[in-house]
Amino acid sequence: MQQSFMKIFGIFGDPIEHSLSPAMQNAALQALGEAACYHAFRVRPEKLKDAVLGAAAMGFGGLNLTIPLKEKALKLEILQPDELARAIGAVNTISFRQGDQNITGHNTDGEGALLALQDAGVRVRESQVLLIGAGGAARAIAYTLEQEGARIAIANRSIQKAQQLAACVSGSGFSLDDLGRLVPGSDIVINATSVGMKEGDPRLFDSWLLHSDQTVFDVVYNRETELLQDARAAGAKAIDGVMMLVYQGAKALDIWTGKKAPVGVMERAVRERLKERQAKAEKETKEAKETR
Ligand code: NAP
Repeated sequence: MQQSFMKIFGIFGDPIEHSLSPAMQNAALQALGEAACYHAFRVRPEKLKDAVLGAAAMGFGGLNLTIPLKEKALKLEILQPDELARAIGAVNTISFRQGDQNITGHNTDGEGALLALQDAGVRVRESQVLLIGAGGAARAIAYTLEQEGARIAIANRSIQKAQQLAACVSGSGFSLDDLGRLVPGSDIVINATSVGMKEGDPRLFDSWLLHSDQTVFDVVYNRETELLQDARAAGAKAIDGVMMLVYQGAKALDIWTGKKAPVGVMERAVRERLKERQAKAEKETKEAKETR
């Protein structure tokens, strides 16, 4: 592999140091035999336009965007969002077709979620979906599952946001207080909030509301959440956020290279990295206790 001809791919965000995308995408690029590498770049929102133009000028193969740049990218006049990214209101993938003359914005988060469900053998068409959350991830999931023929109820801490999103996807909007009656009647329950990212986060609803005919999908991927533990205990199908992360990345790779992404390799890379982080965190906690 000749270093000088390496194609560069990247992810822009701020903060960015905890991103799992470099480990996942580099494993994929290597498995595909591409002379390419994928880096994380810290880019502040006010520098996004310059950074994207710079990447285009330098012949980057493609970019991912993460917090807080996904919505901002949609407003850049240098970038043409595709129909789905425009509907969702956010861009998480950028492709460069002819250098900086054709910069296109895509959103692969929703397809990532759909593929994660399908990968687990879940039927989405005509299913009653309860989507908790109305932020960026929830918007992407709502549009994609609606296109796939699901019936969608959206519950969110801020009910106005739930109702606004529901109106865009022919669904109904609710507050979190309605979860007690919404959860038992849903085929698929999706947590698309950031609740569960931290150990000790309070549950969004009581565990006894879940039952074994359901699928519970938690988009949180940094740890095994209490929601997923409750789902397993109830005998429901439990899907974590890792596969959504993997499939959104796989779809981006497909857009950039036209090649079928090695999903198994990408999943292994993510799970290994998460295990290393968990072991490191446990070691640090133990050491802190010992020095007390
Ligand atoms: P976001 O746009 O900031 O939205 C956050 C959502 O969480 C909003 O609906 C917010 O409700 C809700 N929320 C936050 N704190 C809450 C609390 N204490 N109680 C109840 N609801 C709360 O964030 P996002 O980009 O959608 O990300 C949401 C989650 O999805 C994060 O955990 C992120 O890591 C994950 N994610 C995963 C993937 C993947 O590939 N697996 C991809 C993207 C995102 P309000 O509207 O009322 O504030």
